[in-house]
Amino acid sequence: MLNIVLFGPPGAGKGTQSERLIEKYGLIHLSTGDVFRANIKGETELGTLAKSFMDKGQLVPDEVTINMLRSEVLNHPEAKGFIFDGFPRTNAQAEALDLFLKSIDTKISVMLALEVEEVELRERLKKRAEVSGRVDDANPEVIQNRINVYNNETAPVKTFYQNQGKFVAVNGIGSIDEITQRLFEEINKL
Ligand code: AMP
Repeated sequence: MLNIVLFGPPGAGKGTQSERLIEKYGLIHLSTGDVFRANIKGETELGTLAKSFMDKGQLVPDEVTINMLRSEVLNHPEAKGFIFDGFPRTNAQAEALDLFLKSIDTKISVMLALEVEEVELRERLKKRAEVSGRVDDANPEVIQNRINVYNNETAPVKTFYQNQGKFVAVNGIGSIDEITQRLFEEINKL
């Protein structure tokens, strides 16, 4: 199986690039943010809970997120592999993911980390707010919170994969096509 963690701060292009990767490699795209948003739309209990954190730019608690992720993976027994987009976002999530994948006889192949500096991220999120309809893209305070949460809680997850020799940084500045090519090159090296 090819299991990729597509990593990067909010606005780095994870969603856009995931679409390219699933098409080329026939993977299942698993975006925890998308699953939460679908639950909010469907007015489920999970949606109500997730919304209370997402609207403030905070992380949904690990236990809730991990359980949701596990059941999403188990819903695709035929998968050739997964792109994890927006997960893991904490070291506890990374550890839980390792254990869970081991229990189903697979593992993470690589973490591809899209690198984009903060000024550019803010610009991108501002533009995305005009089209995404996402509450958390529209409010500067919420954006700042998401960037802070990324720096404090999520960025350390890189070390987790560095320690396993699975971390690859990819320049996230350039055209969408250029960045896709960089990702393809890294995957083809595996
Ligand atoms: P995203 O679509 O990846 O930008 O995620 C939007 C929001 O969903 C985040 O700001 C969090 O509130 C929540 N979220 C998504 N993925 C996770 C995760 N792995 N752990 C905790 N919260 C998450």
